[in-house]
Amino acid sequence: MKTKVQLIIILSTLVLFTAMGCKGNKADETFDASLPMDLNQSEEVEKDVGEKSDVDIEIDIVERDLKDDIDLSLEPNEAGDVMILMYHNIGEEEAEWTRTPDNLRKDLKILYDKGYRAISLKDYVNNNIDIEAGTTPVVLTFDDGNENNFRIILDEEGEKIIDPDSAVGILEKFKKDYPDFGTTATFFVFGNNPFRQKEYLEFKLSFLVENGYDIGNHTIDHRSVKNIDDKETIQEVIGKQIKVIEDILPEYKLSTYALCYGERPSNENLEMYLEEGIYDGTSYKNVAILNVGWNPAPSPITSKFNPLSLPRIRASEMKVDNVGLYNWLEHFEKNPQKRYISDGVKEIITIPEFMADLIDLEKIGEKELYIYEK
Ligand SMILES: [Zn+2]
Repeated sequence: MKTKVQLIIILSTLVLFTAMGCKGNKADETFDASLPMDLNQSEEVEKDVGEKSDVDIEIDIVERDLKDDIDLSLEPNEAGDVMILMYHNIGEEEAEWTRTPDNLRKDLKILYDKGYRAISLKDYVNNNIDIEAGTTPVVLTFDDGNENNFRIILDEEGEKIIDPDSAVGILEKFKKDYPDFGTTATFFVFGNNPFRQKEYLEFKLSFLVENGYDIGNHTIDHRSVKNIDDKETIQEVIGKQIKVIEDILPEYKLSTYALCYGERPSNENLEMYLEEGIYDGTSYKNVAILNVGWNPAPSPITSKFNPLSLPRIRASEMKVDNVGLYNWLEHFEKNPQKRYISDGVKEIITIPEFMADLIDLEKIGEKELYIYEK
């Protein structure tokens, strides 16, 4: 009904403008102001009015220039850098590879307050970044799939609950408290029993996928591929882990891979098997391969972007050699022009003129590039 009412308004306004002899662009402005319609609505209009060809012209008028929605005073810069954060354990005592629950909560809150919004690793590599204008994407990753990442405990009534001090417990609470953070993460797991509570394995994997998290590959036995010198073994350590997850979630295919110890094969001819291969009838294709350390990753539309070699930042405050999360937060405070700032319109890639040289036009794909002077 609503659509029909709008249609009537459109048609009667059209008649009015036609009668007044107004030009198309004048009508355009009027429609923009009164009917902020999205494309779906336009399609419905089309359906409702059937074959009348003159109405097609009308639909074009309804579509607005999305650039008008972009607020340049927010200084959008979609060619800026993106932090991919690397966590390992969550535990009582802070250590080189362990963050305490309170420190993970602190990290999330500081990121949120500083205008960062979580996006999935896949959305980052696919240049599918859809966050509010003026904010900066951040990707969260957790390596190893230890129990402290996702633990089930019994509460006082004997009911099973997610341990509120495990990574997933902390993320789920943060998601409720700050829904616009977009809480999501990729868990890079290894072995036959990710998260180390066999009785809850199926529940945990399903929970992650159903609640917007991703599961990534960290090889079947946490193996460095550095000294592997045959393609069969590389495909085996990657493919076996895929089979573990596929046995439980047949629809879910691991397609991201975090290198153990950040190491690649010494034999460069084997590099291609990190990306693609087959093991025991199961084929795989990794769309993202993650290193260990030390710097922010380039925007997915820049020529520097290589999804098969993505740097990560250690989300820690211990032994980070001045390249940890807090060092980079400070860096972006001091150098705001380096930071990815969303324009809030996912169809358009907006960059300031001084970033233009960094762009790889092929990576823009279907999207529209909008360069502005600053
Ligand atoms: Zn690891």
